[in-house]
Amino acid sequence: KKCTVIDGKIVFENVLNAVKKDVDAWVEQGNRRPCLTALTAGYDPSSMSYVKIKKKAAKFVGIHCDIVELTSGHNDDDIIRIIQRLNKSESVDGILVQLPLYPHNKELVVCDAVHHSKDVDGTSSSSMGNLCNNKDFFAPCTSLAVHYILDSIRGVDFCGKHAVVIGRSKHVGLPIAMLLHSSERKGDIRGFNMTTSIAHRHTPSKLLSELCESADVLVSAAGVPGLVKSDMVKAGAVVIDVGITKVEDPKTGKCLFKGDVDFAEVKKKAMYLTSVPGGVGPVTVGMLMKNVLKAAKLHATTRDVATPLDDQEQSDKS
Ligand code: ADP
Repeated sequence: KKCTVIDGKIVFENVLNAVKKDVDAWVEQGNRRPCLTALTAGYDPSSMSYVKIKKKAAKFVGIHCDIVELTSGHNDDDIIRIIQRLNKSESVDGILVQLPLYPHNKELVVCDAVHHSKDVDGTSSSSMGNLCNNKDFFAPCTSLAVHYILDSIRGVDFCGKHAVVIGRSKHVGLPIAMLLHSSERKGDIRGFNMTTSIAHRHTPSKLLSELCESADVLVSAAGVPGLVKSDMVKAGAVVIDVGITKVEDPKTGKCLFKGDVDFAEVKKKAMYLTSVPGGVGPVTVGMLMKNVLKAAKLHATTRDVATPLDDQEQSDKS
């Protein structure tokens, strides 16, 4: 059977159109427009361009998007203070810390300051804990994108099948593996019940090949161009390429983005395959928009949000 290349840009457009419809209905019911605030380190060009893409998507779906540009003068405490203010703000639904920050900033310390009810990128320790405990809050957007793409494949029962995730980073590989292996969960995210292996930089290449050869679903998030060759791929597998590495074209000197998967060769063996660019990346932005709307609804319906006077402020006063 011929390989189906999943077009992430089309999935992205479909997701955005659906979110736009939901946002319109939400606002029509008399609710305030959902609002996302993104913090970004102004020095990093790719970080800036990701934020711009997110802002454009937000505009399309009708989500208000503010950008806070951080400078090298912001230390962790300064950023945490900004985040605490946003946690308490009644007009902010989602807070996004666009990584990387400046080298002197401790990313996890900063991400952990985001209240779990506003952590639309799912990167804080409490969001990771919620994900592991099957609680319905926010999972990292890349893991949601992989989940969404697999979920949209019809006629394949993933339960019990073998999934291999290459990469174990806290924001990408690990949460992907969490969603693939887990059982039924609450809310809009359903685990896939897959038998899931995690490979990483210490996995010997022979073992990596053996694991991949038996994978019904192979997700690569290593950031190593050409890592996944066609002889490692099982015929009829679903191959999702999450790796994205900036390389220079040796002929033109222009910069391009490369995935982990040898696309042309793997296409001859896989049943479903995503490309880089134009695969998982755009879908990730769609998932962020979904999460912001979800956060807005959460804030309107529950009390589990950062209260205007939180513990920190109480102790500051005493
Ligand atoms: P990302 O944020 O996209 O996941 P990171 O650079 O943080 O990227 O993580 C890369 C992951 O890929 C790490 O978990 C690392 O162990 C894994 N990795 C890197 N090189 C290889 C390799 N050759 N084989 C298997 N895994 C690898």
